[in-house]
Amino acid sequence: MKNKNLWLLIFWAFLASIAYSQQSHFDGKTWWAFVNVLADDKMEGRETGSIGLRKAEAYIVDQLKDDGLEAAGINGFYQPVKFESRQIVEKESSLSLARDGKTEPLALGEDAVFSTRIDLAPSVAASLVFAGYGLTVPEMNYDDLAGLDLKGKVAVVLAGSPAEIPGALSSHYQSAGERWKALEKAGAVGIINILNPASMDIPWSRISLNRAHPNMALVGKEFDETAGQKLALIFNPAKAEQLFAGSGHSFAEVLDVAKERKQLPRFPLAVSINAKAKVEKKTIESANVIARLPGTDPDLKNEYVVLSAHVDHLGIGEPINGDRIYNGAMDNASGSAVLLDVAASLKKSPEKLKRSLLFVFVTGEEKGLLGSKYFTAHPTVKAGAMVADINIDMFLPIVPLKFLTILGLNESDLGEQAGAISESLGVKAQPDPEPQRNAFIRSDQYNFIRHGIPGLAMQVSFEKGSPEQKIFKDWLTNRYHAPSDDLAQPVDLSAAGKYEEIVRSLMVRVADDAQRPHWKQDSFFRRYAQPATGGT
Ligand SMILES: [Zn+2]
Repeated sequence: MKNKNLWLLIFWAFLASIAYSQQSHFDGKTWWAFVNVLADDKMEGRETGSIGLRKAEAYIVDQLKDDGLEAAGINGFYQPVKFESRQIVEKESSLSLARDGKTEPLALGEDAVFSTRIDLAPSVAASLVFAGYGLTVPEMNYDDLAGLDLKGKVAVVLAGSPAEIPGALSSHYQSAGERWKALEKAGAVGIINILNPASMDIPWSRISLNRAHPNMALVGKEFDETAGQKLALIFNPAKAEQLFAGSGHSFAEVLDVAKERKQLPRFPLAVSINAKAKVEKKTIESANVIARLPGTDPDLKNEYVVLSAHVDHLGIGEPINGDRIYNGAMDNASGSAVLLDVAASLKKSPEKLKRSLLFVFVTGEEKGLLGSKYFTAHPTVKAGAMVADINIDMFLPIVPLKFLTILGLNESDLGEQAGAISESLGVKAQPDPEPQRNAFIRSDQYNFIRHGIPGLAMQVSFEKGSPEQKIFKDWLTNRYHAPSDDLAQPVDLSAAGKYEEIVRSLMVRVADDAQRPHWKQDSFFRRYAQPATGGT
């Protein structure tokens, strides 16, 4: 190589390294340091309402103050949220099937578990109807309930959806509130949800293990989306055949159709259910934590780009391998740490942003997105001032960041911008490779979306069919919602750093853009952004 060329090469490498260091604010190490604090055993798994969560939030508030952010809650940085905690008392609860006048007891934990997400009635006796996926999707003229007599009956459904219904739409109609709306209209009194073996994140043994763990609901009628629902059971697919006996159909046959992701047969079952549920209730207090970094444009500073993450996790539960603390290092100390790290980076390398930034750390996510539900119903900034929500939940930097899943990628120009930024950093952006897991509605962005705010969530991901896919599947099976989602697990710091860079760049771009992000014309979620027209 000629000397001149060598010098040119060195010169270019030098320029490239400056460019890279300018665009890279994160090394993954500062992120991991925050995760180490939030997922420490001392935080006791950050259960909603617990001292551990309070400690974690106090730490977060200290960091935010250090970073020079302004309090944007009700009591300083805090927005108090009240919950009703519900715990099943199994000794005084029971389940049985009745067939031809004979009673067949069901074993709680073995066959099925009660879901205390809804306000269970003390006793329910009703016949059962298999309603397929139990889905009603008016936009697609799809209705599993059509032609079924559900009056006074309990609908048995299999989790899932037919392939013809787009992911976001099918997720939306599988949310507890939407599902109940349709079933209530059809006259049903409850739901038995058979888990779909094809999309179970957690094995049944672990679901059963923590079935006595309390659930929570927001205090206030306005938040009750399942009013009138008397029974909610989650049924073990390995035990579901007994529900179908005598109906002329088998569960195995239903599963075969579900594997093809086609519409399922629907028919009355030959059994009825008797359920007695004793639930212990108490009131719990917790809080969201909210901070503001003011923008500089005289007008646009009144608008906010929201970065959100849930701080809460599952607390202390049944031991697995001798460990009782459900640390939630990835779920979601990891996301809270990104917010803290981004806030710290904005102190270290300030940006003159037009819009303000809002950092929202929510509680009660594990109880059904409750902290964000409360915040979006009672925002501490002007309703309508939030232009976008970038939510971070369990982004899983457990492999090098080559593929980024963007939930909501094709729904708004916020999604498109996230995709463009990702690609510019050499990361392939893709929509959800596993839409049947319903990830889009399973975290806090969904509540922002339902209030008309374009939102998305991004996760380190894999190419479908690649060896990495198994790494993620194994992570869900073994660590998701288990005590082993802790600080002893391997993480990829450079993937975390790169991910943070994408989040920061997106936030900066949206904060400075003359236009607010908007839903695409054909996006289903655009309807929530329409001004209210009155009516019901
Ligand atoms: Zn979780």
